[in-house]
Amino acid sequence: MLQRADRGKPLTGRIAEVFFSIQGEGATAGTPAVFVRLQGCSVGCVWCDTKYSWDPGGGREVALEDLVEEAAAFPCRRCVITGGEPLESPLFSPLVHALRARGFTLEVETSGTLPPPAVPVDQWNVSAKLAGSGVPEAKRINPEAIRRFLRLGAWWKFVVVDAADVAEVLRLAERFAIPREKILLMPEGVRREETLERSPWVAEECQRYGFRFSPRLHILLWGARRGV
Ligand code: SF4
Repeated sequence: MLQRADRGKPLTGRIAEVFFSIQGEGATAGTPAVFVRLQGCSVGCVWCDTKYSWDPGGGREVALEDLVEEAAAFPCRRCVITGGEPLESPLFSPLVHALRARGFTLEVETSGTLPPPAVPVDQWNVSAKLAGSGVPEAKRINPEAIRRFLRLGAWWKFVVVDAADVAEVLRLAERFAIPREKILLMPEGVRREETLERSPWVAEECQRYGFRFSPRLHILLWGARRGV
C-alpha cells in the first residue's frame, strides 16, 4: 500500500522481492533484467506460482527512493516490473517514472485485468487468463483493458495445458483482433519435468496457428525457486 502520509515523508509501498536474473518468459526471454515484484493480486489463478505476492499487506514496506536504489545497484538497466498484479499496486506508476529517470528500459508483466495507466513502459507483457485459471470470466477478461493494451502494441502470453486452452486463445484472438504474431503460448508447469513434457505439444500448436512459443527458462534452469 502506498503511503504519503505527511508532507516531507517518503513515498512508500509494499514489495515481495527484488532480484537480478534473466527474463524467463515471453518475447525477451533470455535477456538479463532486474525484477521488481510488487505486492498484491486479487485475480486468484488456481495455478499461480507466486501466491506469496497476493496479500497487499504482505511482503515488505519500502520507500520508493530506496527501492530505486536497490534496483539500480545491479549492473543492468533493464527492469521487469511484475507481481502480484502490478497495476493493483499504487506504487506502480511512481515506480515506472522513477526507474525511467534512472535510465531503465521497462517491461511490465500484467494479467490485463486493469487498463494500463499512461506511463512510459517500453514493453507490456499481458498474460490474459483462460478459463483453466479458475477465475470467473468477468474478472479475467476486461474488454476495455484489452483494447487499450492492443493499442500499446502489447505481447500476449497464454499459459496452456490442453487443446481447450488453445481453442480459447483462438477465440480471444478473433474476438479482439489480437495479431497472432504477438501471441505466445507457454506450457503450464512449475516443475522442470512437467514444463519439458508439455513443451513439444505447445511448440506444435504454435507452428499450427502461427503463434510464438514461450519457454519458462527460469524453471528449466533453476526449478521452482523464488528470486530467480
Ligand atoms: S494474476 Fe498473476 S499473480 Fe495474480 S493470481 Fe494470476 S498468476 Fe498469480
